[in-house]
Amino acid sequence: MRFDGRRMSTNVEDRRGMGGGGKVLFGGGIGAGVIGLIIYLLGGDPSAFLGEGGNPDNIVRNEQTAGPDPAQEPLARFVNQVLASTEDVWSQQFPKELGQEYRAPALVIFERGTQSGCGSATSATGPFYCPLDGKAYIDLSFYNELSNRFGAPGDAAMAYVIAHEIGHHIQNLLGISDKVQSMRQRVSEREANALSVRLELQADYLAGVWAHHEQRMFGSMEAGDIEEALNAANAIGDDRLQKEAQGYVVPDAFTHGSSQQRMYWFKRGFERGTFEGGDTFAGDI
Ligand SMILES: [Zn+2]
Repeated sequence: MRFDGRRMSTNVEDRRGMGGGGKVLFGGGIGAGVIGLIIYLLGGDPSAFLGEGGNPDNIVRNEQTAGPDPAQEPLARFVNQVLASTEDVWSQQFPKELGQEYRAPALVIFERGTQSGCGSATSATGPFYCPLDGKAYIDLSFYNELSNRFGAPGDAAMAYVIAHEIGHHIQNLLGISDKVQSMRQRVSEREANALSVRLELQADYLAGVWAHHEQRMFGSMEAGDIEEALNAANAIGDDRLQKEAQGYVVPDAFTHGSSQQRMYWFKRGFERGTFEGGDTFAGDI
């Protein structure tokens, strides 16, 4: 993607050098953050969020903690510019298609571990959106994971990941996340998983809609970029992840959708460029 000279967002919260490491002091007593940190240091299950959200203000930076890694700066800049692009695209599309204003989320860039309104997170949690504080979270090391673990390298793959998280923010703004959450509480685990898949595929669709307008407004896509994003959607589908982890696939446990479904919905969003067409809750997916 050609992003040179593109504007930067003012909604990035850069917490790199602040948490998850050994040189961090906590000012708020034993809270969820401390417990999360301890479990992280013990190598515990990092995908688990712990307790209620802690207060990031309780994290005090030690004088000796190193600042952000300078080698990460081009990536930090790119991620920031992608966020700015989502702001440009969605603040145009919201009034145009829905007759409402777009409220942009903050994107927290962290390193190793941090607190969110949804609890503690570590790098291994992967990028996520917390509907409770309305912020998206990413550790930039996920870029290496995409490339090395998932075989989905490239800036367009990373942009797709950011756009997917912003897709969850849009679902939150539109009340879709709330509706799905309350529906999930009333059904079986199997049906609850199926609802999660539909929510995830809609975020993929919205990432595709973003890519459509990014290209129309800025023409940043280069040859192979859409394939690169599709490759990422393919690589992080639940069937692929499960196969890698346990050697077989259990469809009932899917929470993100299969690789094929993820690619289908991203591509559909990219081709259409409208909210209309993105109802993943009706009919077959
Ligand atoms: Zn998601």
